[in-house]
Amino acid sequence: MNDRIDTYLHKGKRKQLIETLRQKGFKDEQVLAAMERVPRHSFLDSAFVNIAYEDRAFPIGEGQTISHPATVACQSELLQIKRGEKVLEIGTGCGYQTAVLLELGAKVYTIERQFKLYEKTRSLLPSIGYNTRFFYGDGYKGLPSYSPFDKIIVTAGAPYIPDPLLLQLKENGGLLVIPVGEGEEQIMNLVTRKSGTAFEKAELGKFKFVPMLKNKV
Ligand code: SAH
Repeated sequence: MNDRIDTYLHKGKRKQLIETLRQKGFKDEQVLAAMERVPRHSFLDSAFVNIAYEDRAFPIGEGQTISHPATVACQSELLQIKRGEKVLEIGTGCGYQTAVLLELGAKVYTIERQFKLYEKTRSLLPSIGYNTRFFYGDGYKGLPSYSPFDKIIVTAGAPYIPDPLLLQLKENGGLLVIPVGEGEEQIMNLVTRKSGTAFEKAELGKFKFVPMLKNKV
């Protein structure tokens, strides 16, 4: 299929996207290099291939959207990933953020609540060279049997910070990046687990995410 081939044109557009991200103030060279390697067009419906490298969101089916590249850059920077770290991602979606995490050297465990998206992405990602662990489940619960995690990223707007996610963070420095808020906009929260019971929270600006789903059967 055409949209799976990474042409010079795609690579060129990707370079431009990285320049746009630099102009927007993103400076983390590891994150920018990782994003320059991920063929974003391969994650989208073929109708969007020619505009895949614009800094905007696109529909990915089931009423969901792929995040803006600027949002992916922001969340990825905040996570400060080091090679080999264990990362839990809530909201696999089309798998674009998952691929960026993998390019950063993380060992990723990703959960999706919608079965169709879970199935689609579980087959797409390995077909373009990204192998990881996919789970169909509820992100509010996390993955207790695989915890603790060095980092946790939530890619849907959460009405509150779920306690199970806090408790699945590694002690002494585990990080959770989560957009919190029930309305149109959410506030990006960065939570650090200092010790067993001590957490530190920073609020870092407004974003727009699709809502994190509750009690979906
Ligand atoms: N990172 C994704 C963003 C997708 S949008 C990407 O780059 O494509 C958010 C995703 O979170 C959607 O796929 C949605 O179905 C999923 N989601 C919503 N509520 C969830 C929950 N409770 N648990 C796990 N995934 C959830």
